[in-house]
Amino acid sequence: MKSKGFTSRLVHADRLLNTPESGAVHQATNNSVLFEYKDAQELVDVFQGKKAGHVYSRSSSGSNVALQNILTHLEGGLGAITFASGMAAITATMFSLFKAGDHLIVSHFLFGNTRSFTETMQSLGIELSFVDVTDVQNVKAAFKTNTKAVYLETIANPVTQVADLRAIGQLCESKKTLFLIDNTMTPANIFDANSVLASLTISSLTKYIAGHGNVLGGAVVDTGLFDWSSFENILPMYRGPDKAQWGLTQIRKRGLRDMGGTLSADSAHAISIGLETLVLRTDKVCENALRLASYLHSHNKVSAVYYPGLAGHPQHYLAREHFNGYGGILSLDLADDIDPIQFLNALNLVICATHLGDTRTLALPVASTIYFECSAQQRQDMGVSDNMIRMSIGIEDIDDIVADFEQAFAQF
Ligand SMILES: *Cc1c(COP(=O)(O)O)cnc(C)c1O
Repeated sequence: MKSKGFTSRLVHADRLLNTPESGAVHQATNNSVLFEYKDAQELVDVFQGKKAGHVYSRSSSGSNVALQNILTHLEGGLGAITFASGMAAITATMFSLFKAGDHLIVSHFLFGNTRSFTETMQSLGIELSFVDVTDVQNVKAAFKTNTKAVYLETIANPVTQVADLRAIGQLCESKKTLFLIDNTMTPANIFDANSVLASLTISSLTKYIAGHGNVLGGAVVDTGLFDWSSFENILPMYRGPDKAQWGLTQIRKRGLRDMGGTLSADSAHAISIGLETLVLRTDKVCENALRLASYLHSHNKVSAVYYPGLAGHPQHYLAREHFNGYGGILSLDLADDIDPIQFLNALNLVICATHLGDTRTLALPVASTIYFECSAQQRQDMGVSDNMIRMSIGIEDIDDIVADFEQAFAQF
């Protein structure tokens, strides 16, 4: 099965990686919270990790394991843990691996809610340095003796900065430091996290993986490339005989079991259905986004377009090297005399909504929504202008999206 293509493996994964009953091609969705053991010793053994099984669905269940197996398989990783949302995956990972006194190097260009969460981390004594991750030199300069990890996003939202992924991965490897990548914008068919030596990928399944704006989820995948025996924060009780499992074990116990951001069985199933068409959707999204970016780039009512697929994008060379497609996020600065609110109201097909990675094309004014809690200076530091519009490109027929822009521009 390994030799087959991405989508062939994907649509057959449930049936082959799991053991669905009686010829069912999907793992059955099971909402039971509890699991009965006829022999009490067996319950004890499962509790103590000596035997595989489920004891309580906050920690594990068949529907979650089925999705975890597929994600592990597609990312070529060691194992995965699923969560109720992308933010649940991020917060659980951070809180289970780091403690007061640790230092982390974090991208300057972060998803808004992750950015907000970093303030909570700092309030609890975790020290952070925010750096421009488009150049490895900035990361190198920020290293300290207590640096425990580097955390970044592949393609940042909304300005689409691309991280210097391979160079940062090599730096982390030489420093024996965890390299955590938020891979939401570039799922496994677009980006191979192993190729840049990621330790863990963290992603929102809500976006491209599930794909239809109808379910929340998040995941952490361990690539197997990090040597956990060099990570001093692993608690003694999670240092089992298989060192490769130390990180996932601690995240599963501390981050999922104790913090409780569990993905429901129904959501796990909905995500796995959305996932089947990942390649069909993202291929179309990337193609549409490049077409729209080229159109907007040459339009006189647009002062800037941010899309890694454009030759003039500052990290176009990095995007070309690392990604199989340039993603579905595209931002634009309207000409100064066009009000973003009025412009969005003039669009008909494009939906004015937050969210991204949907089948539908979405747009929103950036400064006054996702960054309204930030100061003007913070927005400027992140490259967010006042008349910026963020688009998440969908799978519609591209001529219809372009026509919608044409008629909207004609009104200004
Ligand atoms: C949406 C998003 C998240 C958070 O995911 P949710 O599923 O909405 O909680 C994290 N990181 C990035 C890059 C995102 O786009």
